[in-house]
Amino acid sequence: MRPDLLENLAARVAMRERDGLSRRLRAIERMRGAHVVIDGRELLAFCSNDYLGLAQHPEVIAALREAANQYGAGATAAHLVCGHHREHSKLEEALADWTQRERALLFSSGWLANLGAIGALLDGNGVCVQDKLNHASLLDAAKLCGASLKRYPHADVDAAARQLAAADAPALLASDGVFSMDGDVAPLRELAALCAREGSTLMIDDAHGLGVLGEHGAGSLAAAGLSQDAAPVLMATLGKAVGGMGAFVAGSAELIEGLTQFARSYVYTTASPPALAAATHAAVRLARTEDWRRERLAALIARFRSGAQQLGLPLADSSTPIQPIVPGDAARTLRASQVLEEHGVLVTAIRPPTVPAGAARLRVTLSTAHAETDVDRLLDALALAIRATPASSREAWSPSGAD
Ligand SMILES: *Cc1c(COP(=O)(O)O)cnc(C)c1O
Repeated sequence: MRPDLLENLAARVAMRERDGLSRRLRAIERMRGAHVVIDGRELLAFCSNDYLGLAQHPEVIAALREAANQYGAGATAAHLVCGHHREHSKLEEALADWTQRERALLFSSGWLANLGAIGALLDGNGVCVQDKLNHASLLDAAKLCGASLKRYPHADVDAAARQLAAADAPALLASDGVFSMDGDVAPLRELAALCAREGSTLMIDDAHGLGVLGEHGAGSLAAAGLSQDAAPVLMATLGKAVGGMGAFVAGSAELIEGLTQFARSYVYTTASPPALAAATHAAVRLARTEDWRRERLAALIARFRSGAQQLGLPLADSSTPIQPIVPGDAARTLRASQVLEEHGVLVTAIRPPTVPAGAARLRVTLSTAHAETDVDRLLDALALAIRATPASSREAWSPSGAD
C-alpha cells in the first residue's frame, strides 16, 4: 500500500519529540526593548537579532504609520507587475549607497534573496562551494537550483581552494559574512583572493554584519575593505540589525538587472509593503548615522565576555553580538534555558538540526537595547543555570565550531 504522507510526517514529529528535539512556539504578548511578556510574565530577552535596538524606534514607527496612511497595508502585486513603489526605490538607493555598491535590489526576505540570487547566477548548472556552517537558506538555495553543492569545513580556505580547483565548471563561492550561530567572521579577504585566483564569483550573506560591523555599520565586507570588484554579490537582510523585515542583494548594475529578470523569488512574489520600506529606510538612516549604537553594543559585548570568563564559561571566538554558550548536549541546553527562564531571562536553546549534532547551544545575542545591568542579570542567571545543569566533565561545555 502507498505510504500516507501525513502519517509519515506525524511519525517524524513523534521521533523528534522522542529525541527531545521538538520545537515550541511561544506567543509574545508585549514587547518593550529587550523586555517581552510571555504567558503574562515579563522576561529579559537575549535572543533577538535587533542588535541596534531599532525595531521599536519612534522614528521608524512614525515612518511606518505615515506611509501606511498613504499606501495602505500591502504592495498589492509583485514588483514587476504594479507592486514596486517609490519607497522601494528610495530604500534600494539608500542600501546601495550604504554598502558602496552600484545598485541594490529588494527581496521580501533573506530566504528569497538567497534562493533568487543563487538560482539566477548558477542557472541550474555549475558548482556552488559553501562553508559547512552557512545559513540553511544558502545551502538549500544551491540544492534547489540543481547546482552541484560542495561544502568545505568551517572557515577552511585551503579546503575551499581544493574544491574550486577540482571543479571544471562556473563556480560560486558563498559564505556567511558573520556566522549566524557562532558569531565569528568569515576569512573574507582570503576568500576574495581565492575567488580572484580561481575566476569564481564570491557571494557574501551579511545578515549579521550589516549595521554591526564596518564604518557606519556598512557590514563585514566594508570592515574587510572589500569593494564591489572583490566581492561582487552582497546579500544582507533587513530583519536583523535594521529591525524590520526583508533583504536585498547589492552589486553591479549588470548583476541587479540580471536578478530583476531571472531571480524567480523576486519575480514571482508579492513586493513587501511600501510602508515597511519607508520604515526600513528610516531605520537605515539611524543605523548608519548613530555610531553610538555600535559603540554601546561593543561595550556590552566586552562586559559580557569578561563576566562570562570570570564565571569560567568557555567563550566562542566572537567579537560580534552573537555570543554562543555551547553545552553541546541538547537536553542539558534545554534545561539550562529553562533555568534561565525561571530567573526571568529568555535565551532559546538552539538544537540540531539548526546546529550540528553535539553542538546544542544557548545563542546569546546582545543589543543596544540592553542596559549594563541587564548583562549583569544575564551573567548571574547563567551562573545559576550552569550550577543547575552540571556537565559530566568540564570539557562538555566546550566552545563551538566542533563539527
Ligand atoms: C536570518 C538569515 C537569513 C534569512 O533571512 P530572513 O530575512 O529571515 O529570511 C539568511 N541568511 C542568514 C545568514 C541569516 O541569518
